[in-house]
Amino acid sequence: MAKSNAVGGYKCSFCGKSDRQVNRLIAGNNGVSICDDCVKICNEILENEIKEDEPAISGELPKPKKIYDVLEQYVIGQEEAKKTLSVAVYNHYKRIGQKKRKEDVELQKSNILMIGPTGSGKTLLAQTLAKILNVPLAIVDANSLTEAGYVGEDVEDILLALIQSANGDVAKAERGIIYIDEIDKIARKPGTTRDISGEGVQQALLKILEGTNVNVPIPSNIHQQMQEMVSINTKNILFICGGAFNDLDKVIEKRTRGSKLGFGADISSKGEKDVGKILRDVMPDDLLQDGLIPEFVGRLPIIVTLNPLDENALIDILTKPKNALVKQYKKLMEMDNTELEFEDGVLRMIAHIAIQRNTGARGLRSILEKIMRDTMFEIPSHEGKNSCTITREDVTAMFNLPKDFVESVVKQDMYLKISNKIKAKK
Ligand code: ADP
Repeated sequence: MAKSNAVGGYKCSFCGKSDRQVNRLIAGNNGVSICDDCVKICNEILENEIKEDEPAISGELPKPKKIYDVLEQYVIGQEEAKKTLSVAVYNHYKRIGQKKRKEDVELQKSNILMIGPTGSGKTLLAQTLAKILNVPLAIVDANSLTEAGYVGEDVEDILLALIQSANGDVAKAERGIIYIDEIDKIARKPGTTRDISGEGVQQALLKILEGTNVNVPIPSNIHQQMQEMVSINTKNILFICGGAFNDLDKVIEKRTRGSKLGFGADISSKGEKDVGKILRDVMPDDLLQDGLIPEFVGRLPIIVTLNPLDENALIDILTKPKNALVKQYKKLMEMDNTELEFEDGVLRMIAHIAIQRNTGARGLRSILEKIMRDTMFEIPSHEGKNSCTITREDVTAMFNLPKDFVESVVKQDMYLKISNKIKAKK
């Protein structure tokens, strides 16, 4: 292609300007020319096309089954939640990756609400999903959020956390995940002790949940300049909100009992209650009763419920996941040439203590840390190969457990082992 500056009588074949009206005119072989302004416009068009074609996530988007399989390696139980989330995040990133044409059906954004007790795996699920998809993740606590103008975190700070998690890469942050924990704490409730209305925070969150451009002030350590404003679009950010909603089961029970009254009412279900089972019946209207505003619930169309974890699930959590706590402590001891063992029943005792404390799996680590402290203090000073067994007696003394409880734990463990053997033989 021939290049020409100020070629007498030439005109840009695109905009019609003469060589005198532009800085540069590039002539082609067949008498066509293009000016520098039109080159710039062409470049912008091409850049936009490239942006639209960028994959939603780096690498191939994993299928729901693949997402589920990886979740299985890290999260014990919660099968329904794992399935629903696998499908939901797959659809979300498929939607982002969709090449849009005017006549296409518009796929709507579907943010997610996770309902389940403390320590049942809500945050872990969000973290694992972000890892599987290799997208940035920001975890924020709704308790710290305030309406604009109050002391505390503004809603914009959530976006800043995501940009920071993406190492300042705004385009990457725009495809990330934001997990807002304790969302039930911004419920609109009479007699609440919050000085700022939860409703105001819900209103503030509405826009970013839906998708909008937000100017976020970036502190100097990310972009090397004084507070720079960066514009971020939240349209493709997946919002996952999580909360325990402790009174929600009562709201659901009240509604379902009302509808079941009369002929054929289920009287037997009045006794023992299974919170996980009740929560599975949740309807958006129940959340309104529990203090969320309709517009907010409307922006969280996918509702996932998690079960409280029982003793057996907690034992599995201690031993089975890829980075299970028992595996981690064994590894730590191994690095000091020591083989670590737990006497039969000890893990059940730990699970039992966690349940008594009402902390779900969240409490397991601190219980184990207490049990292991003296051992981890002594062992590194021992020479040569060692072995160490944590006994039932150690744990009983440390946590002041009643004797009959220890006996029942041993019996339960033995019973479980025998029934597992019978099952395996069948
Ligand atoms: P939540 O957000 O529901 O309060 P988390 O996900 O923060 O609970 O759980 C706290 C910790 O407990 C996690 O880091 C993880 O180690 C463990 N945990 C909780 N639930 C599970 C689960 N279902 N499977 C495996 N580990 C779990």
